[in-house]
Amino acid sequence: MQVLVTGGAGYIGSHAVQRLLAGGHDVTVIDNLSRGNRSAIDRLAERHDPSGDRLRFVEADVGDRPIVDAVLRDAKPDAVLHFAALAYVGESVHQPLRYWRANTSASIELLDACLDAGVERFIFSSTCASYGEPSPERIPIGEDCPQHPINPYGRSKLAFERALFDAGEAQKLTGKAFACAALRYFNVAGSDRTGLIGESHDPETHLIPILLQVALGQRERVTVFGTDYDTPDGTCVRDYVHVEDLIDAHLAVLGKLEAGDVRTYNLGIGKGSSVREMIEATRRVTGHAIPTEDGPRREGDPPTLFADPSKIEREIGWRASITDLDEIIESAWRWFREHPRGYAS
Ligand code: UDP
Repeated sequence: MQVLVTGGAGYIGSHAVQRLLAGGHDVTVIDNLSRGNRSAIDRLAERHDPSGDRLRFVEADVGDRPIVDAVLRDAKPDAVLHFAALAYVGESVHQPLRYWRANTSASIELLDACLDAGVERFIFSSTCASYGEPSPERIPIGEDCPQHPINPYGRSKLAFERALFDAGEAQKLTGKAFACAALRYFNVAGSDRTGLIGESHDPETHLIPILLQVALGQRERVTVFGTDYDTPDGTCVRDYVHVEDLIDAHLAVLGKLEAGDVRTYNLGIGKGSSVREMIEATRRVTGHAIPTEDGPRREGDPPTLFADPSKIEREIGWRASITDLDEIIESAWRWFREHPRGYAS
């Protein structure tokens, strides 16, 4: 299979590229490197494509229509996995238009180009942030939970999800062989277990990398963003799913998509962990004291988000294989210990 992976130099996208190449598929990556790492692509090429003919990298924005058209003409992908996005909730509150441009407008350009080029399968990285702050009786969160995002990140992702579904339904009406799926990720965590690639953001805002930077002595402490939420220990509860399980889910969905499908699935483990539980688990895994300080709530953070992942298990047969918090953190820790300065080390 020939697959176009947008955002393939980023954390999640690079894990998809790794899995696709290891599975014998050919991959074209489009990434504008605004958040991705060129070194991830170089490492993947070195390990999986010594002859240089199975992995092609194009540095471009997915909203750059002439380039995307040319890439689609050359690659003729059997499927598109669309990961490219901006994904910081806090940043989105302060720079909303940047998020609407990257996550909505550019994605619509990409989709339009894909439809023009006759792409038949399209999978979109959506987010549990599209659910906003579900009422307690809606947790664990099923796909039918009302979507009322509470930050520009969630709104910009949801807007494209709706555009994708509308386009999918329209393709069906005209009898075109198009299928699409929006996969709503919960909190993606951990690293490739072969140690080749991992999580490396700049700036770093995510909880697990920050905890591991404390364990490495790169930060003095972690600030707990809000201790007065209506949750068992007062801190936010999230569903942490291992990145390799998440990519498996993409391949499983891809394998089941049939012309006319417009599908949506939640990707999580179905269990929530609080910030305090994450800190405890990091202490166990790293043996480091992990000093903390209590801070104010972060703008745009809902108190509790965890998935009901039963729909994808029922329809596709996917279920997370790693549900133990320590195991998820251990896999991230291995990458951080071996690469204390990310791809620069
Ligand atoms: N968090 C925290 N301190 C940090 C970073 C994150 O308390 O330095 C909390 C954050 O408020 C959220 C959870 O950890 O409740 C997970 O945050 P992250 O940014 O990793 O993912 P998000 O839930 O925003 O996708």
